[in-house]
Amino acid sequence: MKKKILEASKFIVENGLVKGTWGNISIRYEDKIYITPSGIPYDILTEDMVSVVDLKGNHIEGLNPSSELPTHLEIYRTREDVNAIVHTHPIFSTTVSLVADHIPPLIEDSVMILGSKILVAEYALAGTEDLAINVVKALGNNNAVLLKNHGLITVGVDIKEALTASLVCEKTAEIYLYALNIGKFSTLSEEDAIMLRNKYLNSYRQIEKDVR
Ligand code: 13P
Ligand code: ZN
Repeated sequence: MKKKILEASKFIVENGLVKGTWGNISIRYEDKIYITPSGIPYDILTEDMVSVVDLKGNHIEGLNPSSELPTHLEIYRTREDVNAIVHTHPIFSTTVSLVADHIPPLIEDSVMILGSKILVAEYALAGTEDLAINVVKALGNNNAVLLKNHGLITVGVDIKEALTASLVCEKTAEIYLYALNIGKFSTLSEEDAIMLRNKYLNSYRQIEKDVR
């Protein structure tokens, strides 16, 4: 799990989803959560530094956990299906969080992996219990939520799915901003969006988690 946290850290940096030390990643495995330590540059992160906590957030080993641990814990507590969480500060998703309260169903891949309508969580200060509550409320059963004036959180059945969801959400936010700028644009019907989401959840992912 620690190796997976390091690989995922490299992925979010290489894909331009974060700058500096911001953002954080966690994986739930059995009765433990593996999470990036707070305020550590990704390029010096080692397996020993990865923070390990129990499901209540008690520190077990490694450096001090991410300041967003309350939000990670609240998502794991309320979403049995989620085993990985990726929090980043990407440009387009963050811009949407300033100017809109949701992203409507726009394109196939997005509604499949993220959900039909992606909500912007009500603003709360980073690292607080209030943010955790707002995030869980806006996430619902989706795999992405935008954080007002802050960034993006995606979740997955495994870390690969959570990372892919981050890329797809950032792509969708970019497309949405272009569409808003041009003016009139079309959306998917709610019926088709729900059908595509259910297809993704029930039959599209053909193989077991962690091997994809
Ligand atoms: P950490 O370095 O504590 O994980 O915080 C970064 C961040 O993005 C807070 O929202
Ligand atoms: Zn943040």
